[in-house]
This record gives sequence, C-alpha cells and structure tokens, in this order.
Amino acid sequence: MWSAVAGAADKAYAMAMSNASSNSQGQADRATIFALSSGAGRAGVAVIRVSGPNARTALEQMAAPLPAAREVAFRRIRHPRTDVVLDRGVVFWFAGPRSETGEDVAEFQVHGGRAVVRAILDALAYIPNCRLAEAGEFARRAFENGKLDLVQAEGLADLVDAETEAQRRVALIQSGGQLSQIYDGWRTRLIECAALTEAAIDFSDEGDVAADAMVQARDRAGLLAVEMAAHLADQRRGEILRDGFRVVLAGPPNVGKSSLLNALAQRDAAIVSAFAGTTRDVITVDLDLAGLRVIVSDTAGLRDTAEPIEQEGIRRTQAEARRADLILWLTEAGLQLSTMPSDLADIEVEVVTIATKADLLPVDMSSSHPSAQVFVSAATGQGLSDLTTLILEKAQQRIGADESPALTRVRHRQHLEQSAAALHDFLTGGLDAAELRAEDVRRAAFALGRLTGRVDVEDVLDQVFGRFCIGK
Ligand code: GDP
Repeated sequence: MWSAVAGAADKAYAMAMSNASSNSQGQADRATIFALSSGAGRAGVAVIRVSGPNARTALEQMAAPLPAAREVAFRRIRHPRTDVVLDRGVVFWFAGPRSETGEDVAEFQVHGGRAVVRAILDALAYIPNCRLAEAGEFARRAFENGKLDLVQAEGLADLVDAETEAQRRVALIQSGGQLSQIYDGWRTRLIECAALTEAAIDFSDEGDVAADAMVQARDRAGLLAVEMAAHLADQRRGEILRDGFRVVLAGPPNVGKSSLLNALAQRDAAIVSAFAGTTRDVITVDLDLAGLRVIVSDTAGLRDTAEPIEQEGIRRTQAEARRADLILWLTEAGLQLSTMPSDLADIEVEVVTIATKADLLPVDMSSSHPSAQVFVSAATGQGLSDLTTLILEKAQQRIGADESPALTRVRHRQHLEQSAAALHDFLTGGLDAAELRAEDVRRAAFALGRLTGRVDVEDVLDQVFGRFCIGK
C-alpha cells in the first residue's frame, strides 16, 4: 500500500508544480526587457540589464563580438543604428537558463553619467522587440522561470529596501530560500498526509488498512500542527526585525512628549528618517538602535475633552498604541504620577513609566516616582541613553536570540494561519467523513502553496511584484 500512497503524493506534487511552471510557456515571443538596475542619478558606474530572447542580439549589435558566457569583456558600446560609440565599458553575457531571470541576459556596466545611461537606454529601444522593463519585471520573470519563489522574491525586495542591519540579515536569509525551505518541507508533508487520507478512502472496505493509514496521517499532521503553531507564536519577531519595533510616547498634554521625541531623534546619529505622520497629531521618527529599526511615535496628549479635533487625536493615539510593541507612559517628575486612562491601560501592550523633566527636580528624584523606570530630561539630555538602552532591551526580549528564519510579512501570516486552521479541522473533524478530512488537508497544502507561489497565484503576483523598483 505504501508505494500507492507515495505515488499519489508524487502525482499531487507534480500536478502542483506543473501548475506553477505553466506560466513560463511561450518564451520565444516574449518581449526583451531592459532597465537601469543600479541607482538613478550621477554615479561612477551604471549597470544596465537586458533580459529576454533578444538580449544576445543587443550584445551582438552594440558590443560585438559576443563575449563568452559569464566572462567579463571590455567593449566599445555602439548605437545599433548609427554605429556611433556611446561609451566604453564592461559587458557580460549569461545564456539562459543559467542567468538570474532564467532567460538570456546581457549586462552593460558603463560610466554612470546621466547622458551615458540615457544614450544606452535609447539605443536598446532600437533592438527588435526590446522595451523598458516594468517595476519588478526581472524578478517576476525569475519567479516564472522557477529561479526563485514568492517568499524569496519578497526577501529580495526587502534586501534592496533594507536600511538597518537587522533588516539586511532577515532579508538575506529569506532571499536565500531558508524560509521557503521550511514552508516547502511542510507542504510536502501535508501532501503525504493527503495521500495517506486518500489511501484510507480507497481502502475503506479493508477496515484495518484504512484505519492504519488514517492514524498515520493524523500522527504526522499532529506533529506538523505543533511546528506551525510554534512558528506562528513568534511574538511577531520577524515582522519586528523587518518593519521595526514600534514605541509610542503617551501621556497627558505638556508632559514633554514632543521634546523627548526630538531629543531622541537628535541624539541618535543613525536616524533613518524623521517625518511628520499623515495625521496632524501623530509624529514619527525612525531610529536605528544597534542595527534595529525602532519607530517612535509622539501622540496627542490624553485627557478628557469635549473638543472634537482633540477627541479625534486621542482616538488616533489609542489606535497607534494598539499596534505598538511598547508604550512609554510619561509622567512629569515634579508632579503627581498621572494615571493612564483605562481605555489605554486595557490595551495588551507592555507599558513602562518614564519620568520627564528630571532637570526640574532639585534633589533625589527617584523617590518622587518609584514606578518610573527611567528619569529623563529633554532639556539636559539626562537619562536619554538609559532610555534608549531600555527600549533596545525590550525590543531584544521580544525578538529573542533565536536566529532561525522568521515570518516577516502579514501575507505570510495569513496564508500560514489558513493552513493551520485547515490542519486543525483535519485533526479534530470526524473520521467517518474521510472525504471531508481529505479536503481539509488539501486546503492546508494549498494555503502553503499560495504562500510560496507553488500553486496558481495570479492574484497575489501583482501584489508581490508591484512593490519592486524598476530594474529589479
Ligand atoms: P507635549 O505636549 O507632551 O508634547 O509636551 P512638550 O514637549 O510640548 O513640552 C511641554 C512643555 O514642557 C514645553 O514648554 C517644554 O519646553 C517643556 N519641557 C519639555 N521637556 C522638558 C524638560 O526635559 N525639561 C524642562 N525643564 N522642560 C521641558
């Protein structure tokens, strides 16, 4: 029986794979695409990439003779119509499928002046069936040719966007395929469970065999459910590494929130950016603390008010606090401890009390607010480094020392949760309805397939690749 089961698993997997690769048909009449892949603007060197059936023609007509594949060649680069020399530079030839996109690829490394780049891009448009690439089109072709899956493609986009060390590290792991390996491994195991369940249905008139297959399927699914649950219960570790640790400054008006935000922003040399939020009352600064992106928001002061605009500000404060990883409740060192409004205190986010305006206290300050963990003064800078250390410690507690690949996006979480829910149905549903259980486990596998792009995912492709820059 086992060979029948394994055979069914292989067949299901092969069907899923052929579904994913069917996109790559009809390559010969595909447009050849080109773009500036290095940054826009004046630079020492510019890299222009060409991918598609006429990449070879581009090299033959603009940088003849065609170099040996994957070997560097120094060439005069000419206009294909006029033969005028546009620049001298280095060119590469990668014959498909051994290239980044899986298609024939040509690369021009030229002087990075704006006029040089413009002249070469203009010239490439004269190569038959050649056009400027759309955002993310190189990566999309790589995906369609099986060079990377969706999770890797997203990792690549993150690597290009990475501004901090932590972002670089998670993006590198993800683009290298370590996360995909986990998800693919789970999917293969689910397909095996599906095959065992199918076998239980096929052999239903041989009671023992069917029961045995079902027990095996459930045992395996049970182990998998535990692994998935642990991966999902990660305190959003990967999302924090990728998107940043969110800290909200909250407190009554005039407690010194804005001043503290400014002091934090000015203090840290490695500020990524500082900008006013889209709302007039939530201001955000990005800090790079020891390689981790930390987003600090200054919110509207909290107090009871009948004034509608202020009420709206408070509503937004609460919304901001709800998605925070840490709330710093500010209270003025020289005044009575201000209590947190109950609707903020009810939010399930860790709160640390900070005493502000410490410079206004003449003597031993710590006795004034025993609940305050740090005394700061935006005016003198006192306590600021203790505060950044505290924020970093709290962030590190959340992230943990675990270096294993973490899920980094809401999209991943959603597919994984769908898969885990279907698996739960499989594990808890009645065994007399074996067909329904087979459907549960198929749904679980399908959700993971959508995550990595192994199954038909046309609807998620634009969402994933639309975010890329042109030339990637
Ligand atoms: P917010 O309404 O909570 O944002 O408070 P602000 O940052 O606007 O500050 C309110 C007032 O407190 C301003 O007059 C600030 O100059 C003053 N203030 C803020 N931080 C300090 C501080 O560390 N020391 C002193 N002495 N005054 C401060």
